[in-house]
Amino acid sequence: MIEQKKKDDGLKEPADPQFEQIRKLLEEQKAQILREAGRVVESGINTPHELFPDPTDMATREELEAFSLRLKEREKNLLRKIDLALERLQDGTFGICETCGEPIEERRLLARPVTTLCIACKTDQENQEKRDRISRGA
Ligand SMILES: [Zn+2]
Repeated sequence: MIEQKKKDDGLKEPADPQFEQIRKLLEEQKAQILREAGRVVESGINTPHELFPDPTDMATREELEAFSLRLKEREKNLLRKIDLALERLQDGTFGICETCGEPIEERRLLARPVTTLCIACKTDQENQEKRDRISRGA
C-alpha cells in the first residue's frame, strides 16, 4: 500500500461529500421549480373558466392565481439563489458565511442550501431588520 492517507490531517478535505449531496439537492430543487413553473403556466392556459361555475370556486381560483403569481416571484428569487449557491459550490466559497467568513453550520446548509449566512449572522440580520422597522416607526 503506497497510498497511506494521514487521517489526522482530516480537517482539510478538498472534495467534501457533504457538498456533493447539497449540490444534488440544489439541482433537484432547481429542476422541481422549473417543472412546477411550467405546470403553473400550462394549467393557466388550459383551464377554461367553465370549469369554475361556482362562485366559491371562482374565489378559490382567484386565490390560486394570486398564489401562483406570488409563487413565480418567490420561484424567481429562489432560482437565483440556487444558481448563486451552485456558483459558490464551483468556486469553492460555498458554505462560508458572507458576513463573518466562518463556515456555516452543516445542519443549516442541509436544511437551507441557498443560505449565505451562518446562524449567528442571520440572527443578527433579523434583529437589525426588526430594529430598523421599529426605528422607522412602522
Ligand atoms: Zn456569520
